Amino acid sequence: MQHVTLDNGVRMPILGFGVYQIPADRTEQAVSEALAAGYRLLDTAAAYGNEEAVGRAIRTSGIPRQELFVTTKLWVQDAPAQDNTRRALETSLAKLGLDHVDLYLMHQPFGDVYGQWRAMEAANREGLARAIGVANFYPDRLLDLILNNEVVPAVNQIETHPFFQRAEFHALMREHGVRHQAWGGFAEGRNGLFTNPVLAGIAEAHGRSVAQVVLRWLIQSDVVTIPKSVNPDRMAQNIDVFDFRLTDDQLTAIAELDTGRTLFFDHHDPEMVAWLSKRRLDS
Ligand code: NAP
Repeated sequence: MQHVTLDNGVRMPILGFGVYQIPADRTEQAVSEALAAGYRLLDTAAAYGNEEAVGRAIRTSGIPRQELFVTTKLWVQDAPAQDNTRRALETSLAKLGLDHVDLYLMHQPFGDVYGQWRAMEAANREGLARAIGVANFYPDRLLDLILNNEVVPAVNQIETHPFFQRAEFHALMREHGVRHQAWGGFAEGRNGLFTNPVLAGIAEAHGRSVAQVVLRWLIQSDVVTIPKSVNPDRMAQNIDVFDFRLTDDQLTAIAELDTGRTLFFDHHDPEMVAWLSKRRLDS
């Protein structure tokens, strides 16, 4: 496994396992299979409703805690955000059965972002989260957070796939020491990703799958990736991407697939802002 070093010195695998949309009653098995396949970075969230199952799989794996990199995420909190953020992190830790996470992400750029971030900074200082970061922040929001706070987010986890590549944003994040992490690296298969002729042609040239080509492209673009699968064969395939390299011509061909547009949510769309801001977790 290749690793990256976050700006605060914390080492993170460049490829991990995401558990979004895995039902809680399927998650323990999926995470156990992923750990057996060699994944060491696990990406969950309070909003996914499966932190307890992730925790159970960690405990039964017998893998030493320091060999794992566990990420979870804070959902949008009501005021007072600092108190509620602290409580939300404690709830996540209790569900996971851990005394700290390796990365705690603010899931959405909404609500009292500053209050939430200050509580996350405090948690970081106390060691409850070895690194803190954000998700779904667009350049304007991210820069505001960086310029007006003490701790620079170590990571921004954003939609990134061949149809929405974020290359300019990547450069801006790099300039400020923010690590780019992709969610939806396969675009969840949208837009015909797994049968795209350009990707399929490159896959054929390497004797690999389209999924492996996409993951290789992300890794060579210096983007941390967290593919999700509930299928053990695909889990094995998705982690087996460290023994081939895409050529410059192949990278150029993939660059041309970029549409510059989201296939999921536009965080500038007022309807989406309202929907995400109002959503609350049951606890
Ligand atoms: P994704 O990884 O782009 O795609 C997952 C889909 O691809 C599943 O339908 C999976 O099906 C299929 N798949 C996986 N490997 C495959 C392979 N080798 N060949 C063919 N199909 C394959 O989608 P995602 O789950 O949305 O994103 C990944 C992770 O990012 C999430 O799990 C979550 O941890 C994180 N995420 C974060 C946010 C955020 O707001 N921060 C949003 C979305 C996701 P099977 O399971 O049936 O194999």
